[in-house]
Amino acid sequence: ATIAAGPGIDEARERLRALFGFDDFRGVQPQVVARVLAGRSTLAVMPTGAGKSLTYQLPAAMMEGTCVVVSPLIALMHDQLRAARANGIAAATLTSADADWRETIEAFRAGALDLLYVAPERASQPAFREMLASAPIALFAIDEAHCVSEWGHDFRPDYRQLRPLMDAFPHVPRLALTATADAHTRADILAQLGIPGDGLIVAGFDRPNIRYAIRHRDNLVRQIAELMRAEPGPGIVYAPTRAKVEKLAQQLGAASGRPVLPYHAGLEPGVRAANQAAFVESEDMVMVATIAFGMGIDKPDVRFVAHAGIPKSIEAYYQETGRAGRDGDPAQAVMLWGAGDFAQARQRLSEVPDDRRGSERARLDALAGLIETAGCRRAVLLRHFGEDPPDRCGNCDNCLDAPGVSDVTELARKLLSAAYRTGQSFGLGHLQKVLTGVPDDRVVQRGHDRLSVFGIVDSGDARLIQPVARALQARGVLVATEHGGLQLGGPAKAILKGEQPVEIVIPPASGRRGGRRAAD
Ligand code: ADP
Ligand code: ZN
Repeated sequence: ATIAAGPGIDEARERLRALFGFDDFRGVQPQVVARVLAGRSTLAVMPTGAGKSLTYQLPAAMMEGTCVVVSPLIALMHDQLRAARANGIAAATLTSADADWRETIEAFRAGALDLLYVAPERASQPAFREMLASAPIALFAIDEAHCVSEWGHDFRPDYRQLRPLMDAFPHVPRLALTATADAHTRADILAQLGIPGDGLIVAGFDRPNIRYAIRHRDNLVRQIAELMRAEPGPGIVYAPTRAKVEKLAQQLGAASGRPVLPYHAGLEPGVRAANQAAFVESEDMVMVATIAFGMGIDKPDVRFVAHAGIPKSIEAYYQETGRAGRDGDPAQAVMLWGAGDFAQARQRLSEVPDDRRGSERARLDALAGLIETAGCRRAVLLRHFGEDPPDRCGNCDNCLDAPGVSDVTELARKLLSAAYRTGQSFGLGHLQKVLTGVPDDRVVQRGHDRLSVFGIVDSGDARLIQPVARALQARGVLVATEHGGLQLGGPAKAILKGEQPVEIVIPPASGRRGGRRAAD
């Protein structure tokens, strides 16, 4: 939907410069702002970092009356409040954490507020509706609007109360904002919030300045320290647990000599705030953090985001890597994954309630697809978000240095039958010994040296056992139990019967002998 610069947008650009100090709008910002200024309800789907806040803050400063902003997280609200005030916009919050309610309500009634931030729980209370009736309202802005949809990943029942509230003010336009892209959720947001279909504005999701790379993790500290040497600017390293955050922060600090701080929900609030503030100020600090870190942090010059383990989904990966390079300068996103990550993630699937397990598994499979592709990473990402990108981007690991692809069907069958014949209770180390014919005590004691699979893999193929096992685990063909034994999963049967070929990507560094080049 392109709306030509209509009345108001030139003035808006002036105000953009004067208030925010920005040269010009970015991406779909002018379309969204123009629609809002024209009083038309809108759903803007814009990726994280695309500048959603500006699309209601600027109209709020220009329009008569107050813009009521519904936002789900008090911490985020206060960040936004500070930023808005710094730009000379009259803003206030009404949350349980505020002591100045009286002043806020008075200012609101007097029409002196541009922005009023509230949580959805508050917005659904009758007293709030009465309060709105007593003052001029210019706009309803609904941040994180996917929370209104059960299709989204973060449904919040209180968001359902917004519709009746807004319906009580039919002349006030609505602006819903989200970074969640899938078509199902979008349609649902439009319906739930009463926004017409022609009010949908979707920004492109590509972040061309981010270079994506996904590698197997063989020496985490060394791999990230190398990245830090190549990239002296600020970076974020995501680690899966608090304990790993602490340890990795220490190791990376020692290995790199650069300032490295930890961040996770288990730290004292004061320490957490201090670490975050230090990071935002710094030009060379690396923050090792759980995914609790990053939401609402406004640091445009993050030069790299590294994942020391797999993210939860492609959406999460996009969101987390999206914190790199918001200033538009070159930035890197590097994921370092291991087979154990998938073992754990697939184990957790068994704890997910039945009705959600299928979609969770699909998320994990999509992520495995991104990790295992020999093609362009960006193309996989953008296709996931419903776009139709070119086959190659020229700015991801696979485009820059095409990996080889090997048909490893035979080896995969040997590995699967070794797991099967040894009772599906041994780890990869043991299976490797059996397959390559190493008769150590354990192998002999169990009689595994007398199995038909003993020694059937020659030394040339032995080095491929690990990458094949890794790929099979990522795909759920081999599933690690809690005790570390490898069991056969879903598609194992078809592979064993020879009905399904198995190909794996051989990364350039470990040689491409025997593999044909992919993506050429
Ligand atoms: P989102 O909510 O979409 O994740 P934000 O509203 O937090 O994004 O904006 C991300 C960053 O981009 C902020 O630092 C903001 O100041 C900056 N920004 C937004 N619009 C512009 C613009 N037109 N020009 C330059 N910087 C902008
Ligand atoms: Zn690419």
